[in-house]
Amino acid sequence: MAERPTPTMTDTLTVSVLGTGIMGAAMARNLARAGHSVQVWNRTRDKAEPLARDGARIADTPAEAVDGADVVLTMLYDGAAVAEVMRQAVPALRSGTAWVQSTTVGVDAVEALAAFADEHGLVFFDAPVLGTRQPAEAGQLLVLAAGPAQQRAAVAPVLDAVGARTVWTGGSGADGGATRLKLVANSWVIAATTATGESLALAKALGVNPQDFFDAIAGGPLDMGYLRAKAGLILDDGLEPASFAVTTAEKDARLIVEAGQRYGVRLDGAAASADRFARAAAQGHGHEDMAAAYFASFDPDESR
Ligand code: NAP
Repeated sequence: MAERPTPTMTDTLTVSVLGTGIMGAAMARNLARAGHSVQVWNRTRDKAEPLARDGARIADTPAEAVDGADVVLTMLYDGAAVAEVMRQAVPALRSGTAWVQSTTVGVDAVEALAAFADEHGLVFFDAPVLGTRQPAEAGQLLVLAAGPAQQRAAVAPVLDAVGARTVWTGGSGADGGATRLKLVANSWVIAATTATGESLALAKALGVNPQDFFDAIAGGPLDMGYLRAKAGLILDDGLEPASFAVTTAEKDARLIVEAGQRYGVRLDGAAASADRFARAAAQGHGHEDMAAAYFASFDPDESR
């Protein structure tokens, strides 16, 4: 494996984006718009192709995508997908390349990915993001990042292109400090999504107009922009295209439960949410926005 020179903060970088789903495509587009040379790969090539219009080069394989990269950014579904795709990239990875790992993965997976980075001489940044489709498209994500302090300048232009702000959580990256913060934040997101769906389902069952519920809590501490936004998607038929799909939310809920188990805390709500997402997916709502977990409250026949 050849050594690569360390880029400086002012460099225009060659950035490889592996995974161009909802989030990865938006991040790749913002990197290209920021002037970086962007090389993308996606398992389903069709989803990467529109990025050619933004100047990105579409690669046929992960190895082709990472060839010559200063920074590799992974935004895939889960830890297993990241491990598999990075294994495919190995032949073209250069020692010393920075790896910004933004996929939401579990605490076990982040350790395994950091070990892979170590084995291949990559500089590992644990860098999950907060924010969904619209902030990703606007380059306004909040990046939670951990990685070696002396190498941060090398990835700062990438983090700045995809996010409004980066919060450095401390730690080397290998200990998964940013991922642990991300899982805590997502446990709150998932709880709020479940509560929204169940409150609306109960309102429907009891013949309560949802607007009466919103009016009752308006302006007080129980009112919440997130409730209004997710309820709006359910009530106004806005579940497609998803900002954050039901299947992805189930994956995250299960990662949260696993993290709780590893560290000895019971997370009954997250486990119940995972089951609701699974049930909604089985009813055919898996690709819709996670607010569609609402339908898990009903028999499949009456879910629409
Ligand atoms: P998405 O649209 O479903 O994209 C998932 C990506 O992973 C696609 O590129 C998909 O390829 C790829 N993929 C899945 N399994 C794979 C495998 N086995 N091998 C290779 N590629 C595989 O999901 P997303 O919403 O962008 O989320 C991506 C990551 O960001 C997830 O970890 C999610 O938890 C996290 N995240 C999402 C949000 C959000 O609001 N959406 C916010 C923060 C973080 P194909 O196109 O071929 O299926």
